[in-house]
Amino acid sequence: MEYRTFRDGIRLSRLGMGVMRLPVLEQNNARIDEEKAMKLIECCMDAGVNYYDTAYIYHGGRSEEFLGRALAKYPRDTYYVADKYNFQAEADYRKQFGEQLDRLQMDRIDFYLLHGIQDHFVDEMLANGCIAYFDAKKKEGRIRYLGFSFHGSAQTLHRLLKLYPWDFVQIQLNYYDWYCGDAKELYEILREADIPVMVMEPVHGGLLAAPVKEAAEALRALDADVSLASWAMRWVKSLDQVQVVLSGMSAREQIEDNIHTFSGEAALTKEEQEAIERAARAQFDSISVACTGCRYCCPNCPQELDIPFLLEQYNKAKMGGAWRIRALKDMPQEKQPASCIGCGACTEHCPQEFAVFEYMRELQEMLEKL
Ligand code: SF4
Ligand code: SF4
Repeated sequence: MEYRTFRDGIRLSRLGMGVMRLPVLEQNNARIDEEKAMKLIECCMDAGVNYYDTAYIYHGGRSEEFLGRALAKYPRDTYYVADKYNFQAEADYRKQFGEQLDRLQMDRIDFYLLHGIQDHFVDEMLANGCIAYFDAKKKEGRIRYLGFSFHGSAQTLHRLLKLYPWDFVQIQLNYYDWYCGDAKELYEILREADIPVMVMEPVHGGLLAAPVKEAAEALRALDADVSLASWAMRWVKSLDQVQVVLSGMSAREQIEDNIHTFSGEAALTKEEQEAIERAARAQFDSISVACTGCRYCCPNCPQELDIPFLLEQYNKAKMGGAWRIRALKDMPQEKQPASCIGCGACTEHCPQEFAVFEYMRELQEMLEKL
């Protein structure tokens, strides 16, 4: 297992176990299959994984209690627990933090994060005083390192970095979001600030383990014997600022594949980098609208919709999940995709003849389900 020094002499395994995807008994009530899950934690500990990431809301609130029990048999200084304050689930941070220590049966949390910050609730969360409270807990020794996980904009990230001397930040980072989304911009901001990066979604929720045919072919041409997911893991761990790569491992084979990937420092060759970028672009082309932002369509829209902006939101939702465009719901009704009357004027003036009204309809359907 590869390790990298964090600070204070702490050596973190570069592969971290994200317990969000532990096997469950019944999908609907999210009950953990404890027998199988215990074996997976043992397998990780045996392989030298020492970073375990849980959260208040995982598995319907049962994750922390399970993880605490699973790790109780190991000496406390052989693993590190990361846990998170979820503002949207329970705004009362005192109550939530107390519950978390109880559930974990621990007197401290090693890595504590404000959970999944997004632009649409950041103001409300910051106004409630949670940072000052968690800073006090850090000084008491109940929290060792304080950070946040993030799904917001570059602008909000800059703002957060000015507010507090964070010990680490967790972002969604994978080759797909790097080449086709905003991951590179967020990573560069953190690198400039010299803040260690914890990575979530290195395989983009499984997408890069089973990408579209063209993407898979680009990677298989390099080496047909390794898994497609391993390319995503190798790519992300090759970034200098990356401290821990979290993987939501739910099966032994997955753990073994990751352990193999994290057992050698082999740098990616230029040819491998290029193939990975090709795979990302092939994946993007398969699900997104390649709007160039030329705006030829805009003056012709009777509803005065910002068509390229809405298509960008469409791409974001298709790539990362509809929840990423929740802020659209707060826009004036007349600016939302539902205002499209399907007149087709945009398509007539679009050099690429995109059937914009169909994308608007799909975008609206995604918004309605949020
Ligand atoms: S189809 Fe919709 S988006 Fe396109 S011009 Fe007409 S109203 Fe505007
Ligand atoms: S004309 Fe077509 S490519 Fe240009 S902004 Fe409008 S939808 Fe995008």
